[in-house]
Amino acid sequence: MDFKSTNVEFASELDAQDELAVFRHEFLISDPNLIYLDGNSLGRLPKRTIDFMRSAIEEQWGKRLIRIWNDGWMQTPTQLGARIASMVGAQEDEIVVTDATTVNLFKLAMAALRARPQRHRIVSDVLNFPSDLYVLQGIIDLLGSKHELRLIPSADGISITSRDVENAIDAQTALVCLTHVAFKSAFMYDMARVTDVAHQAGAFMLWDLSHSVGAVPVDLNKANVDLAVGCTYKYLNGGPGSPAFLYVRKDLQTQLKPPIWGWLAADNPFAFELDFTPASNISRYKVGAPPMLSMKAVEASVDLLIEADMERLRAKSESQTSYLIYLMDEWLAPLGFTLGSPRQIEQRGSHVSIRHAEGYRICRALIESPPPAVKVIPDFREPDNIRLGITPLYTTYTEIHRALERIRTIVDEKIYGQYSNERLGVT
Ligand SMILES: *Cc1c(COP(=O)(O)O)cnc(C)c1O
Repeated sequence: MDFKSTNVEFASELDAQDELAVFRHEFLISDPNLIYLDGNSLGRLPKRTIDFMRSAIEEQWGKRLIRIWNDGWMQTPTQLGARIASMVGAQEDEIVVTDATTVNLFKLAMAALRARPQRHRIVSDVLNFPSDLYVLQGIIDLLGSKHELRLIPSADGISITSRDVENAIDAQTALVCLTHVAFKSAFMYDMARVTDVAHQAGAFMLWDLSHSVGAVPVDLNKANVDLAVGCTYKYLNGGPGSPAFLYVRKDLQTQLKPPIWGWLAADNPFAFELDFTPASNISRYKVGAPPMLSMKAVEASVDLLIEADMERLRAKSESQTSYLIYLMDEWLAPLGFTLGSPRQIEQRGSHVSIRHAEGYRICRALIESPPPAVKVIPDFREPDNIRLGITPLYTTYTEIHRALERIRTIVDEKIYGQYSNERLGVT
């Protein structure tokens, strides 16, 4: 993509042509001088969520009390799953909203490994989110240390080649477990191709869609994916710690056995049988009572993405990440910045990492500079990545322009020198 000018007028022109611009008004944006580029960690609050939650608490919980479960609340996890399914190319009975992403990964990875008892290799990669790797390490420990975790290497720390993927997966591989869009660099796999390599070797394929859902088009059925998990508090704007989702392909739902036999995974939870009979559908992968208030917030927000349409969101995201990289090349590369994300659009999700030796202090200066300076909220990922999240539902070109201008000033005038290098608890 070619951009012809670094002027702010050009950024305004791009905003004026943006057909998704109306969606920004759907969000609570109280401070026009705060540029939020962290929607990939915690999405903004949709205005409609406020009334929806007030009603869920006052009218539904408050007045209906226990009867609320029979007013449709019991079906919410699967109904919401059906809506998410429409966004990721799954059938409506292949996804359920439940638990945290990490817990879902545990459940599905365990189920897959137990279905391949003769194989003792798990393949993942060095770009994966640590929680996913910890879960796999914990599973190996739990199963008596008989498995080996093989991590696909990355030559540049940013991306992974298909040759390295192919070399890592073999006839001993039980499970390939990867994150579709890498949390640090935003590197994006070719889902269909990697899934095919796993299947050729007879392994299960489990994708983590945390940085994909609501950000890039995903077609689980088309790629014939076996298993997937994903997060709802990032691009789906479900609120802090909102419950995650899991996907099990229809034909596998009754073949696989989840490791936690909770009452809501039972065929008929309210029969209160003393022996467990698993449900014969996606509910088999549920555990206990759903966190309904958090789930309601997800319910309020997902329709925004469905209305905006994934193809249009992706087109805007591609254009905005490219525009950001263009400004970085023009303004920041001469100041010592390098790109921490892939340059090829088809290999990039919806955030861009830029790297600088003073990355952490630059981040602090962006977030903490007092007015009248514009505040920019990115996040920081070790050792030197400033991660700039593009959320096409509400990020504007003008914001990208102002944010990069501010980064330039902070480095140019060495403003970061006023901030400490000591890491805060949450970066
Ligand atoms: C954000 C994220 C998670 C979140 O996990 P939780 O258990 O829901 O906190 C998991 N995996 C990846 C790749 C993520 O980016």
